[in-house]
Amino acid sequence: MQKLLVANWKENPRTEAGALKLFKETAAAKRKNVDVVICPPFLYLEEIATAFRKMKARNELALGAQDVFWEERGAFTSEVGPKMLRSLGARYVIIGHSERRRDFKETDAMVNKKIKLALKDGLHVILCVGEPLVVRKRGIAAAQHFIKNQLKKDLAGISKITARDRGIRLAVAYEPIWAIGSGKNDNPEDAAAMADFIKKLLKVELKIQNSRFLYGGSVHGKNIRDYVQYKSIDGALVGGASLKAGEFKKIINQTNG
Ligand code: PEP
Repeated sequence: MQKLLVANWKENPRTEAGALKLFKETAAAKRKNVDVVICPPFLYLEEIATAFRKMKARNELALGAQDVFWEERGAFTSEVGPKMLRSLGARYVIIGHSERRRDFKETDAMVNKKIKLALKDGLHVILCVGEPLVVRKRGIAAAQHFIKNQLKKDLAGISKITARDRGIRLAVAYEPIWAIGSGKNDNPEDAAAMADFIKKLLKVELKIQNSRFLYGGSVHGKNIRDYVQYKSIDGALVGGASLKAGEFKKIINQTNG
């Protein structure tokens, strides 16, 4: 399966000019058999989509958003629906990032509603899951139990939607919370074991036939290969390192098929 790299810029950079610069520099990286998705803040999407449309080499590059709401439209101050994102040119969306769960009290039920509408409205979904350190300290089996619970709730009823898909529109990004932005990336072997566990769970129990597995948490140019060398790891979700075009280019180069 073709690898996928997702850049999550979070609340960065500070200006639209900075965002355009970062986008152009990142987009200049040669991509060979690797899909690259850039997820800027909502506010910069339109400007970046315009620059994207003008680019000559758009192969294997796409835009995404960092979140989406679970209603199409209505009296929901500040929210953005999937069709709005698609109308700007976004094809992907990140849902359930641990920062949204922690800082904005997003629940599994909310995540589930977001995924359902985003898929129904034609977006590709990158669902983030991950265990806190207290759980991981109890061992891999405890982490798997935690992730299983999360996925069962987040993906309830989703198989009915994905069953109609010809391509693969769901990626699960496994991001151990303690590995995000900490410089302490997960052991690649453990991440690969989690990939096998999640893929089997999706297929056998949740009846979702096709999905991708991404690893996220302190990925950079020097460790990305340790992950993508595994067949079961289909790519990575990258935070901090995606804000430095040079570093993200290294990640792309190391992932190129
Ligand atoms: C993230 O926030 O999804 C993430 C993986 O961040 P970082 O790469 O900075 O650990």
